[in-house]
Amino acid sequence: ESLLGQKNELLFKFLVIGDFGVGKTSIIKRYAEGTFSSVYKMTIGADFAIKSLMVDENTLVHLQLWDIAGNERFGSLTRVYYKYAVAAAIVFDLSRPETYHSVKKWLSDLRRKVTLQNEEPLPVVILANKGDVNYCNIPNEIVDFCKEQKILNWFITSAKENTNIEAAFECLLQAALHNH
Ligand code: GDP
Ligand code: MG
Repeated sequence: ESLLGQKNELLFKFLVIGDFGVGKTSIIKRYAEGTFSSVYKMTIGADFAIKSLMVDENTLVHLQLWDIAGNERFGSLTRVYYKYAVAAAIVFDLSRPETYHSVKKWLSDLRRKVTLQNEEPLPVVILANKGDVNYCNIPNEIVDFCKEQKILNWFITSAKENTNIEAAFECLLQAALHNH
C-alpha cells in the first residue's frame, strides 16, 4: 500500500503524436493542467506531463503523457521513444487538411515499431483538433480508415474550448486498463 492508502498504483505511458502545430502540447496541457495558451511555445526535447486519477476506489493511475516535442519534422520516432507505451493519440488539425494525410504516416511508424506484449496492436485514437475554428470538412473516409486500421475511435476536439479531450483520453485509459 502506498502513502495515500490505495491498494493499486499504475503507471501508463501514453503518446501524443502528429504534425507540427496541430495542438499536441495544447491538448496535453489542457488535460493535465486544465489550461490553454494561444501563445505559441515550441517544445524542445522529450517532454511529458503527468495526470493522476482514481479509476476506482482502490486504484490510482498515473498517465504519463508524452509530447513528441520538436521531433515532428522527421515524421518518425525512434523505438526508444515508443518503448513501454500502452496507448497513443494521433492528432491532426481540422483547418489544415495536409495534417490529416500525415495521420497515416504516424500510424504506420507506430505500428511498425510498437506492439503490446500480447502482440495486439497498440490502442490508438485519432483527434481532429481545433474543432472550434472554421474548417471546411471532416475527411469522410475517416470512419472506414478507423475500422480498417483498428483505431478505437476518433473525436473532434478543441484544446481551446476543452471539447472531447477527456473523452478521448478516457477511451485510451479504458483500453489500457483492459490490456493491463
Ligand atoms: P503542437 O506543435 O502540435 O504541440 O501544437 P501546439 O499545442 O503548440 O499548438 C499550436 C498552435 O495551435 C498554438 O498557437 C495553439 O494555441 C493553437 N491550438 C492548439 N489547439 C487548439 C485548438 O483546439 N483550437 C485553437 N483555436 N487553437 C489551438
Ligand atoms: Mg508541441
